[in-house]
Amino acid sequence: MNLTKKEIIALLSDKQNEQELFNRADDVRRKNVGDEVHLRGLIEFSNFCRNNCLYCGIRRDNKKVCRYRLSEEELIKTARQGAEMGFKTIVMQSGEDMYFSVERLCRIISAVKNFDVAVTLSIGERNYDEYKAFREAGADRYLMRIETTDKELYHRLDPQMSWQRRYECLLMIKELGYELGSGIMVGLPGQTLESIANDLLFLQNLEIDMAGIGPFIPHPDTPLAGENGGSLSLALRTMAVMRIMLPDINIPATTAMESLHPNGRIMALQAGANVIMPNITEEEYRSLYALYPGKAGADGTPANSRSRLAQKIINLGRTIGTGYGSRIKKSLVDK
Ligand code: SAM
Repeated sequence: MNLTKKEIIALLSDKQNEQELFNRADDVRRKNVGDEVHLRGLIEFSNFCRNNCLYCGIRRDNKKVCRYRLSEEELIKTARQGAEMGFKTIVMQSGEDMYFSVERLCRIISAVKNFDVAVTLSIGERNYDEYKAFREAGADRYLMRIETTDKELYHRLDPQMSWQRRYECLLMIKELGYELGSGIMVGLPGQTLESIANDLLFLQNLEIDMAGIGPFIPHPDTPLAGENGGSLSLALRTMAVMRIMLPDINIPATTAMESLHPNGRIMALQAGANVIMPNITEEEYRSLYALYPGKAGADGTPANSRSRLAQKIINLGRTIGTGYGSRIKKSLVDK
């Protein structure tokens, strides 16, 4: 559905009537993507990063981080265990770690594809040939948040990075036929509601297949330690408006939402979300991928966290998706 910028800002600022907005988004979700909740197994395979984003706990200059990377074998083994647990999508996420060369990643992707899963990459900015090689090796989807469309804010928070370059990466990924996921952080220092409205319009124009929207949570070992974080309520409102604007896309209930409230992801599932990405990384590494403090799912075994979540989903009257959970474009179904 098309909303004007003014309408979006009105919805984002109306905290008092947010339950109505959540109900409306929940209704749009049910009519367009149904009651299935797709679970994606998330492997955080390296916390090395060449970038220095001011908000991020694994930024290059954070010397307090104990860096790790999974070996090729460990990564493939973790993906296999995920598939055995029933995940039909494996999401491989990392900092921008160039140790994972195109050859190495292509070997890993091909191996993981043998487990009858969809593969999602979330490894940041690469060049066209690399994106193409990953796609040819079998990668199905790519997640890369634009973070914010306020270029001034972006360049302040992501020094040495270029907003234009990130945008061009998103276009390349789309052109190569990946399902494209993007998104933003809500509550960044200096971000306005108008800026968030611009972000939502940008994501709608880009015709993304997946939108990851989460609150910014300040990390104590970053330059933004003393800043206020985003609220769960505004993040949920932003996500709900996104659902209304792009009715048939996949929208995850994000980990950052759960980190602000023990039931944050369940609240998100009732306000437009239809995907959850439980962390299946081995326990010894999970706490080291600390993008922000209190990151949900940093303890407990993958099998435990999956069954805990599945129970909560069933209690909501929803079902667990059994397919790959790709985006099914409504316009195609209606034809
Ligand atoms: N390197 C890849 C990339 O650039 O897309 C993937 C990893 S990156 C750490 C994943 C996401 O974490 C970012 O897109 C950002 O939105 C989120 N993130 C990082 N620091 C955060 C914070 N302090 N609060 C909330 N989300 C954060």
